[in-house]
Amino acid sequence: MNTAFLSVGTNMGDRETYLRSAITSLRATEGIELIERSSIYETAPVGVTDQADFLNIVVRLTTTLAPLELLAVCQRIEQELGRERTIRWGPRTADLDILLYNDDAIESETLSVPHPRMRERAFVLIPLTELAPECTDPVTGRQFRDEPAIQEGGVVLWGAIEKDGTGDEEFV
Ligand code: ATP
Ligand code: MG
Ligand code: MG
Repeated sequence: MNTAFLSVGTNMGDRETYLRSAITSLRATEGIELIERSSIYETAPVGVTDQADFLNIVVRLTTTLAPLELLAVCQRIEQELGRERTIRWGPRTADLDILLYNDDAIESETLSVPHPRMRERAFVLIPLTELAPECTDPVTGRQFRDEPAIQEGGVVLWGAIEKDGTGDEEFV
């Protein structure tokens, strides 16, 4: 069995519904078992800054799927949620990126793991280290919590995980 971490981000329309739908679709996918999700963070856009704020989460899953099969699932869910590829790094209903897949280092034409820009992104590092505080970068050997970018700010807790049985169980 393989363990992977995915980043899910959205900044269009009903953002929470897009996050929930992405999770529902992951749960419904054969070969994937969703283990947990982080709290939801609201994030000012980086790069292309003239767009709405994002909601971001990280999820941990186990899977029998190979990395490229998992990428195909991510892309299928993006399509289902109506993502249109217009401007790179522009607004999107859903972006599902593979952050880590076991301790593998993968460099192919369509897939790079660890995600090549994750070390610079507080909106990835904060939810990832919430789930896995000790998590170590298989390439650099450093712990993600020690990456300087985690201090950058612009990432605000938007909704914590509810663990009191108030009906949010389906949202992992
Ligand atoms: P960024 O990669 O900087 O987060 P993005 O997520 O907006 O930008 P996309 O348009 O979603 O970029 O994806 C562009 C391409 O990135 C995809 O077609 C996919 O093949 C490739 N890709 C490479 N590595 C990964 C990865 N680890 N997870 C998801 N996509 C990846
Ligand atoms: Mg992305
Ligand atoms: Mg992407």
